[in-house]
Parts: sequence; C-alpha cells; structure tokens
Amino acid sequence: MNLMLFGAPGAGKGTQAKYLIEKFNIPQISTGDMLRAAITNGTAMGMEAKSYMDAGKLVPDSTIIGIIKERLGQADCKKGFILDGFPRTLAQAEALEELMKNMGISLDKVISLNVPDELIVGRITGRRVCSKCGASFHVEFNPSKVADICDYCGGELIIRKDDNAETVKSRLEAYHAQTAPLIAYYTDMGVMVELDGTKDVNEVTQDMFALLK
Ligand code: ADP
Ligand code: AMP
Repeated sequence: MNLMLFGAPGAGKGTQAKYLIEKFNIPQISTGDMLRAAITNGTAMGMEAKSYMDAGKLVPDSTIIGIIKERLGQADCKKGFILDGFPRTLAQAEALEELMKNMGISLDKVISLNVPDELIVGRITGRRVCSKCGASFHVEFNPSKVADICDYCGGELIIRKDDNAETVKSRLEAYHAQTAPLIAYYTDMGVMVELDGTKDVNEVTQDMFALLK
C-alpha cells in the first residue's frame, strides 16, 4: 500500500505514521526526519537545509526531490510506504508522479489530517520528539509513558529547534501558500480522503484505519 499523510505542520502526520507502520509493516518516509538526520551527520546537504528549516521555510525542491528519489529506490519500499511531509509543493508532487510512473506504481490514498491553525501553535510548542527514532509526543495531549523517554525505543525526548512560536508562523504561511494547493491536486486525482485531525490521537487512528479497510 502506497500512502501519503498530508496536513499542516503539527497536524499529527508523524504520530499517525507510527500506527500505520505497525499495522501495515511499511516504512515511513519523512523528509523532515531525513533532513534532520543529514544535519546530525553534518553532510553538505544537511548544512544547506538547516538555514531554511531554522527559518521555517521550505528547503529547495531540487534537494528534496533528490533525497526522495534515492529513498523510494531502496528495497524496503517495494512493499509500500507512508509519505510524511512530502510533497509540499506542486513541483514536488509532479516529480513524485513522474517517479512513481517510472517505477510502475501509484498512490493508493492521500490522507489529509485537518486541523485549524489556532490549534497548531499549542501542538508544536508542546511537541517532544525522540532524538533516536523521531517519534513524536506532546507534553499534554500525548505524553510518553515515562517523562522525556521515548515509548518506542527508549531514546531521549528533545524539543526541535524549529518548534517555537515564531517559526510556527512562517511554517504555517509556507503551508498555506505552497502546500495547501495540493489538496485540489490530489482531489482531482481521486485519491484524497479527509479526516478530522482535531479528535484525540486514538480516535484519529481509528478513523484512519476505518477508511483503509
Ligand atoms: P506532524 O508530523 O504533522 O508535524 P506530529 O505528529 O509531530 O505532527 O504532531 C504534532 C504535535 O501534536 C505532537 O506534539 C503530537 O504529540 C501532537 N498530536 C498529534 N496528534 C494529536 C491529536 N490528535 N490531538 C492532540 N495532539 C496531537
Ligand atoms: P517536518 O519535520 O515535516 O515538520 O519538516 C521540518 C522542516 O523541514 C520544514 O519546515 C522544512 O524546512 C523542511 N522540509 C521537510 N520536508 C520538506 C519538503 N517536502 N519540502 C521542503 N522542505 C521540507
């Protein structure tokens, strides 16, 4: 199954991706996680991306399309995948379509998690992420079982550098200007399904599983 989780920053894509991985045993492909790994590893690509990420701006399409091309070509993607945070621009969506066409595969569903901007700031400022596996928690809405420790891998939970009130504003602007137009793109393609992302984490998961039956 080839899936895409779509939505504003902080809508819950990474959180729901973990449940899809468990249920369908397919990998999560998060461009945000891949960029953060490149920064940690000190690669040239990571260094270039960092300034955009810290400012809450989108990283250039050519960089993103390059890393996705490489990732989708890896063996574990043959049984399917969950795209998370990609594509974010029309150029990325068109590049993905071309890439999938060449691979002889197509998207089964794009799942949009709908959350209004007013709720996003609180979600992002309370987010804690695992420094090892990238899993996402929230101090109030989705706390880890043991404070500051990841439920999935035991890694340490940290605050992302771009998870602050100032950056959220630019990230939401980028989302509305550059990413939200993809809702019409995938609706026209006939693969778009929309979910109320304001419900509790577990309810969103149940709704998502129901529409994947
Ligand atoms: P995204 O991957 O879309 O940027 P995350 O999955 O990291 O978003 O979620 C952003 C924050 O909101 C995290 O702190 C997460 O724990 C929390 N969160 C996710 N889903 C919900 C939900 N349904 N209700 C409340 N908080 C949520
Ligand atoms: P995320 O982890 O999805 O919230 O992404 C964090 C940051 O990484 C974003 O604010 C962008 O700067 C960058 N990023 C992640 N994915 C993309 C993408 N598909 N296109 C452009 N920039 C991206």
